[in-house]
Amino acid sequence: MQCSISKLKAFTEDKGFRDDFRRAKRNAKRQFCDWLRWSTGHTVDPESIFDCQVKRIHEYKRQFLNALRIVVLYNRLRQSPGLDMYPRTFFFAGKAAPAYRLAKVIIKFINNLAATIDGDPAVRGRLKVVFLPDYCVSLAEHLIPASDISNQISTAGYEASGTSNMKFMMNGALTIGTRDGATIEMAAEAGEENFSLFGLTAEQVIGSRGWYNPRWHYENDPETRQALDLIFSDYFSCDERGVFEPLRDMLLKQGDHYMHLADLKSYLTADAQLNALYANSDEWTRRAILNVAGSGKFSSDRTIAEYAAEIWHVQPCPIPETTQK
Ligand SMILES: *Cc1c(COP(=O)(O)O)cnc(C)c1O
Repeated sequence: MQCSISKLKAFTEDKGFRDDFRRAKRNAKRQFCDWLRWSTGHTVDPESIFDCQVKRIHEYKRQFLNALRIVVLYNRLRQSPGLDMYPRTFFFAGKAAPAYRLAKVIIKFINNLAATIDGDPAVRGRLKVVFLPDYCVSLAEHLIPASDISNQISTAGYEASGTSNMKFMMNGALTIGTRDGATIEMAAEAGEENFSLFGLTAEQVIGSRGWYNPRWHYENDPETRQALDLIFSDYFSCDERGVFEPLRDMLLKQGDHYMHLADLKSYLTADAQLNALYANSDEWTRRAILNVAGSGKFSSDRTIAEYAAEIWHVQPCPIPETTQK
């Protein structure tokens, strides 16, 4: 199927268009910063990379894997202050079901991580985490156009489709994600070379259920161990000792069902490659344009037409011109 938006592909080689595209993203980031300051009091740097994960809080969506990535980056910066790393702002938003206690602990962890990083002058201006409360469509409308990076990192095999992945794609963000749900089709439309895919496939997740041992990663990967040791030494919870024990239990006692530790290393590798690319703004913009150009397949018109034909078996019922007025 040929969508009109795919005509944008031809414009990747047009310098004037790339400049305009970048300007539009910069303006969206500035507008978001103004709105954020007005609505929450948070001040963030619009020149930093905006790296987002917004969706319901659930273990399978793995917000905690994202948080572990940030703890590893934080450790790297603390250990090597001279590290070459573009300033980054991480945004989380999402609600958890009222009785889902572990999801609430994950929200608390992200908030504590944000506060600790804010209080550490060693990483000021280089790393910032913001948890935006009360996620809703209005918030999404502000944040998604301002995003540079979209995190779609569910355990492969668990996300039926996802729709925020598409919203980010058509608003010019690059996706870092697992081969799960519609993210697989999105990468096929934009070209896999314009996507940052990492981690176990759904087949590998199923295939390793019998022998997967999260402790192996704790014992054999130094960065994983340092990150977990920091969290469970109450570094992020010095006034609330033990508050993150349920996360330790989930990972190391109950077997890490959603395989956070299996994918952390490949997530960090993909993350380093993608963030290094940001310095090459022409190549970054080229990829972002190809993502927007490839997003036409995910229009609701196509989706509903397909559902009508293949699932509901219903015919269109055109409304006559006269009754429309
Ligand atoms: C798109 C959207 C979702 C769904 O996000 P997924 O990442 O597909 O789970 C949930 N809540 C809001 C407010 C949205 O706009």
